[in-house]
Amino acid sequence: MSDLYQMPLKALKGIRRPKIAELEGLGIRSIGDLLEYYPFRYEDYRLRSLTEVKDGEKITVQAKVAGEPVLQMYGRSKSRLSCRLMIDGLLVTSVWFNRHFMKERLRPGAELIVTGKWDGRRMQMTVSEAEFPGSTTSRSGTLQPVYSIGGSITQNWLRKQISVALSQFGELIEEVLPEELIQKYRLMPRNEAVYHVHHPEHTKDGQLARTRLVYEELFLFQLKLQAYKATQRDRTDGIAHRFDMEEVRSFVRGLPFKLTNSQKQVIAEILQDLQAPFSMNRLLQGDVGAGKTVVAAVTLYASVRAGCQGALMVPTELLAEQHARSLTKLFEPYGLQIGLLTGSLTERKRRDVLSALQMGLIDIVVGTHALIQEDVFFRRLGVVVTDEQHRFGVNQRSILRRKGQHPDVLLMTATPIPRTLAITAFGDLDVSTLRELPKGRLPILTYWVRPEKLEGVIGMMRKEVGEGRQVYVICPLIEESEKLDVQNAIDAFVQLQQALHPIRVGLLHGRMPAAEKEQVMRQFSEAELDVLVSTTVIEVGVDVPNASLMVIYDADRFGLSQLHQLRGRVGRGANQSYCVLIADPKSEIAIERMRTMTDTNDGFEIARRDLELRGPGDVFGTKQSGMPDFRLADLSADFEWMELARDDAAALLGAADFWTAARYLPLRAYLQREQVPDGEVLD
Ligand code: ADP
Ligand code: MG
Repeated sequence: MSDLYQMPLKALKGIRRPKIAELEGLGIRSIGDLLEYYPFRYEDYRLRSLTEVKDGEKITVQAKVAGEPVLQMYGRSKSRLSCRLMIDGLLVTSVWFNRHFMKERLRPGAELIVTGKWDGRRMQMTVSEAEFPGSTTSRSGTLQPVYSIGGSITQNWLRKQISVALSQFGELIEEVLPEELIQKYRLMPRNEAVYHVHHPEHTKDGQLARTRLVYEELFLFQLKLQAYKATQRDRTDGIAHRFDMEEVRSFVRGLPFKLTNSQKQVIAEILQDLQAPFSMNRLLQGDVGAGKTVVAAVTLYASVRAGCQGALMVPTELLAEQHARSLTKLFEPYGLQIGLLTGSLTERKRRDVLSALQMGLIDIVVGTHALIQEDVFFRRLGVVVTDEQHRFGVNQRSILRRKGQHPDVLLMTATPIPRTLAITAFGDLDVSTLRELPKGRLPILTYWVRPEKLEGVIGMMRKEVGEGRQVYVICPLIEESEKLDVQNAIDAFVQLQQALHPIRVGLLHGRMPAAEKEQVMRQFSEAELDVLVSTTVIEVGVDVPNASLMVIYDADRFGLSQLHQLRGRVGRGANQSYCVLIADPKSEIAIERMRTMTDTNDGFEIARRDLELRGPGDVFGTKQSGMPDFRLADLSADFEWMELARDDAAALLGAADFWTAARYLPLRAYLQREQVPDGEVLD
């Protein structure tokens, strides 16, 4: 890692100032950055045969003109040119849009290479590019890099600049990985890898180059993270909570149920962290219904007993109100004051809560984003718990943390991150996992039915209500949209009210005033309503253990993790619970989602399949969740490399001569250049 990162873009041959500004807009500030601006995929211009491709696929093939071209003009500039081509012994109709000038060149018998979309049913190819023998910019036969571009920058221009940079500065690219690691995995040297990732003449070179650079990226990431973590470990400016363990124990004994072993274990880990003088930074993951709330409650209680205040941040008002209600009930006998802070409080009420918080009259505050407004102050914030943490942006979590003096932080999530991924990617977070559900729970039975079977589903609702249970019905959208043919919550409500009479049906959706929402939710949790027709506002956190049937309309419109979250609203008590997915899925992926849901109740398994179907960026919302954003590495495909990189980084940092030996100089320089990795966990 030489001074390529200091070398300005204007050193590049032939580049002009306005373009430099545009490159900077893409985050490319130096020659080094330009060289490391890796393609996110390749366009495949390798020659193939028609027999190898699927319908609708893009393909590059050798062709021979086998007929007279026919040109139709539409208006001044639009045209359609068609011509018979002989390809792999088949007669194919080629279609060219708005390329009337090609007519001249399509002489019978002429040879050419065409790239285009293949329609096997109609034996037709829509041509996007063509090359005749002797063409200067030959692409056919190669893989062409595709970069993320913007502004007036085009693919071709960027490809050219990177090529120039490679020939002008390629020799200055220095190795950064220590020799032993290069040997260990037989990695391609850095300069070659950078070259081949931009110009993968053969797939194999591209693969080897990518592997090398992925490993490098992950290794450097781990090195940074672990070096940083090592410095944090020695910090003692957190809060050493001092509480009486016996008081906490007696609180636990007073709970309405016995904790599971998992809960006990996790709570022990947390209490230990609270007492220690460094700041806790812990991720608690547990499937829906595993009982995370009570873990949060014990954590908050211990902090209050040590003379601090606690904050519980949740993503929706509905959830804030529910948590405030249940914590009040739980803590009232112990004389704790619970506050609620949401966006829909009246100004007057809000001011009351704020001053009570600042004076320390409120022990525990539950709230939404309203908690992170500028004018919210605590007297002594000891613990911050974030429920459904994946719903929050990175910044939102860290603002709350800054409202105290290095408070202890507990992040809770039901979107299970596969364990290896969690540990390796959030390298400096401690991870606790609730592995078991409370005893006596029966697995939820899930059925997938077609919309024609609605009558039967309504019968099931009647039966559950008849047995004293409650029912959720989820609809995807609030407003009618004829085009999308989406089931409308209001329609469904009206329809079910008629069909189920005299069963009590309620309606809940995001457009209702907060007070009304709260009222409906309270009626449902107090069993004054039997059926709740709702949009996805109840997706996370809502806890009404008596509900035993979850019906999801148009289930194919939801993602897997969302379906799993919704399903998790039932199965919270001792009764047998059911989930019915009403769907007529059209795509393979949607069908796969339905199958996955009926196959398994295991959130980790579902997360794994979701990862396969969608990729980690979508699942975790890379930018949102604080997952690191890698240039090349793909956490679902490359996580084994992540684990190796973690172990290698740990071994290296532990080596006696790491901070002195000359051969580690590039790595030390790298660590000094970039001390702190991105991500809120490190702020
Ligand atoms: P989640 O992990 O999805 O947030 P909750 O904390 O809402 O789950 O808990 C789900 C339900 O299980 C709640 O009704 C809660 O009271 C109950 N619960 C939690 N822990 C236990 C336990 N150890 N034994 C029995 N019920 C429990
Ligand atoms: Mg919860």
